[in-house]
Formats: sequence, C-alpha cells, structure tokens
Amino acid sequence: MAVPGEHHPAFEEYCECIFELAEDDMELIQARIADRLQVSRPAVSEMIRRMEHEGLVTNSEGISLTAKGAELAERVVRRHRLAECFLTDVLKLSWAEAHHEAGRWEHVISESVEQAMTRLLGNPTTCPHGNPIPGSAYQETDATPLAGCAIGTTFTVRRIPEELEFTPGLLEFLESSSIQPGHSGIITAVSPDGTLTLEIDGNHVGVGSFASERILVSA
Ligand SMILES: [Zn+2]
Repeated sequence: MAVPGEHHPAFEEYCECIFELAEDDMELIQARIADRLQVSRPAVSEMIRRMEHEGLVTNSEGISLTAKGAELAERVVRRHRLAECFLTDVLKLSWAEAHHEAGRWEHVISESVEQAMTRLLGNPTTCPHGNPIPGSAYQETDATPLAGCAIGTTFTVRRIPEELEFTPGLLEFLESSSIQPGHSGIITAVSPDGTLTLEIDGNHVGVGSFASERILVSA
C-alpha cells in the first residue's frame, strides 16, 4: 500500500523524464518520452492519462508538469544527481556505472539519507556531469556548445547534458578522454563533417557533432 507522500516509481520516472527533456530544451511530446524511457507509445499515453488524473501533468498544448509534478521531479532528479556524486566520489564507480545505479537509488533514498549525503558530500551543486542539483546553491554559468568554438580556442568543460548521459557508450568515451567538467583543453582541428579534434589532459581525441553540439563549455 502506498504511504502518503510516496509515489509509484513509474510516476517518479516519468516526472524525471519530462523534467530532463525540458531541461535540455527538447520537445515535450509522447514520442520523446517513449524514446528516453524505452517504452511503447501506447504505454506512454496510458501513463500520461494516469498522471493527469493524479494532478502531476497537464496535456493540452504539449505535456507539462504541474506544480505537484515539478516538485516530485525535482526530488527525484536531486536524489539521482546526489547519488551519482556519492557513487563516483565516495565509491569510485565509473561515470557510466554511477549513472545506471543512480537510476535505481533515486527511488529509494529517504529525506534523511538525502540530507546526510548532502552533508557528507559538502553540498554539491551539480552531478559529476555538471548538471545542476535542484534545490542546491547552483548558479548558472555562461556556457556555450563546444561545437561553436573555432580552432585554437581554449575551453573548460562545464556540462554534459542529460541527453548525452543516455547515449549508449558516450559516458565511457567522455570519461576515458577526460572530457569532464572542470577539465580544460584546446581545439586543434575541425573537419568538414563537424568532428572536432581536441587536446585535453594530454589526450588527442575526436568528438563528433552529435556530442559537440551538446557538450557545454566556457571558452
Ligand atoms: Zn549526471
């Protein structure tokens, strides 16, 4: 039986998904949700109907979270990103493992564990990938897509948006190439197909346009 204030994990998952699609300025349509959650479109439309009934979303001109839905989303996203910090900083898991595990932890962390983690980690403002922790003291920095930088630009990585965290194999690639928040590099070449060559922490790596258009840096 549901305890008051607790939600079905599926509601949490959908609220989180809608929050993160909006965060990355993606179109809030059922097809995007189905792609991200890897479920069928009929399953999404059924769940959106249930969430409307629960007062978590509205679905008139596109899907959006109500105040109640946004509160639930922020709580789940906060716990996901805090868990990622804990799993990488304390347990030393890889980026990809941490992202995967945090997808489970986000549903079971209680208020008091959340507070203890926040304290232990020293009030982090972002996850290891640079995405803001809702409710933290995060301050927006002026970051631009890596793809907009010319040859010779030195840059510091700020943020790997959530969309890239869901792209298979990408977190492994970025971590092994040191393309991580706080690391600085220089653009050494741009090929006609938009692939950038970077030198970062002594590595020379090529980054395709899908990733470079999304990775945010300060130049
Ligand atoms: Zn993250």
